[in-house]
Amino acid sequence: MNVLVSGGAGYVGSHAARMLANAGHEVWAYDNLVFGHRGAVAPGRLIEGDLLDRPKLEAALKAHKIDAVMHFAAFAYVGESVTDPGKYYHNNVVGTLSLMDAMRAVGVRRIVFSSTCATYGEPESVPIRESQAQNPINPYGYTKLVIERALADYAKAYKWGYAALRYFNASGASADGDLGEDHDPETHLIPLVLQVALGQREHITIFGDKLPTPDGTCIRDYIHVDDLASAHISALERLEPGTEFKCNLGTGQGTSVKEVVDACRRITGHAIPAVIAGPRAGDPPALVADASLARRELGWTPRFTSIAPIVESAWRWHQKHPNGYGD
Ligand code: UDP
Repeated sequence: MNVLVSGGAGYVGSHAARMLANAGHEVWAYDNLVFGHRGAVAPGRLIEGDLLDRPKLEAALKAHKIDAVMHFAAFAYVGESVTDPGKYYHNNVVGTLSLMDAMRAVGVRRIVFSSTCATYGEPESVPIRESQAQNPINPYGYTKLVIERALADYAKAYKWGYAALRYFNASGASADGDLGEDHDPETHLIPLVLQVALGQREHITIFGDKLPTPDGTCIRDYIHVDDLASAHISALERLEPGTEFKCNLGTGQGTSVKEVVDACRRITGHAIPAVIAGPRAGDPPALVADASLARRELGWTPRFTSIAPIVESAWRWHQKHPNGYGD
């Protein structure tokens, strides 16, 4: 297939683009490089453009005879979405509608969309099944939920096939350490902890140790970025007009912040000092996927099911690229 990967220079998008190309697809990354990195894209495969640039999108879809879109491009800082919601609704909602309307104009009817467990908000129960109510507690989660809804409506009216894949905590890096996580600013736990091991930070701050979890720290479901990528490809290969997948992507295993920090200490051999602070606003104590639906519907199985190999892969990337992509 000829596939346009929006956000193909970003963290998850770049891993998916590379895996797609390795599987024999023709892949084009479409990215405005606001957060993406030129160095994360295969040479000659980057189309530099913005989601809001409809003419450019349509031209790209036509010129490369695109059969399907994987849509990763989005702003994803939860805290910033609270203080600057306009930026998030504009980019994530208006930008995605621009992409969807460009697809309509050109006749592309398959899309795999990066959604998030943040669409559930405070979970009713854990592990979280797809049938739980989606009540986001921040604008970021709402922007993703709005697009899930729009996709369902477009799919019905225009006979599209789509997948909305609700990621839990994307983590890790490609096996060779050539692609990895490079956010500026960085807010995610594993890269921050590994920056301490690299001597780039003094300590890691643990947000809360008196939460209602076995060790008092937050529990999350860390899913390897290449497992996310393979789920996208499984979904893409199953999309027909009228197909609808709404699946969690997680391992089904919860790991606490303390367990992540301990794994990083073991793997890096660094003491990694930790400072306990109060809980971060809006952080639910535990978010773990019931990941069985994706296994059934997409025929997908995550290869990384524990935190150690995920951290090992991230550590390879950070050692090889202490300053990220350096751009
Ligand atoms: N966390 C932490 N210290 C940090 C960053 C994150 O204790 O400096 C915790 C955070 O409260 C959450 C978990 O680590 O429980 C994962 O946070 P991250 O920001 O990586 O992902 P999120 O779950 O917020 O999407």
